[in-house]
Amino acid sequence: MELYYFKHNTFQTCRPKAVFYGSVSSICVQVTTVIPGEGSCLMCIFPETPPPDETAIIGPTCGLIGSLQANEVIKFITGSGDLITHRMAVWDGRTGDLDMMPVEKNPHCPVCGKG
Ligand SMILES: [Zn+2]
Repeated sequence: MELYYFKHNTFQTCRPKAVFYGSVSSICVQVTTVIPGEGSCLMCIFPETPPPDETAIIGPTCGLIGSLQANEVIKFITGSGDLITHRMAVWDGRTGDLDMMPVEKNPHCPVCGKG
């Protein structure tokens, strides 16, 4: 549902200044910040809607992702620090590892590419 919203509504009609994306699955989180017109959009990152995930989510994981997203918003508003753009922060709560995965712009993306 969330990705449908981004594909068909937000970027074409709302023209947001930034999108602070976060997702949680079980005990793992993903966070990225998308600045429209700069690098990849969410459609580049997730060209297909992932299958539903019915794995239980624990509360602290949701708290972590909310804190990471709030930190991104504060950095965006104040212009301080480096936003998590052009990459995805992936935290695996099972191991505690935090990885920064590069994300690539799709030149054929129907949202931000040349089609
Ligand atoms: Zn795109």
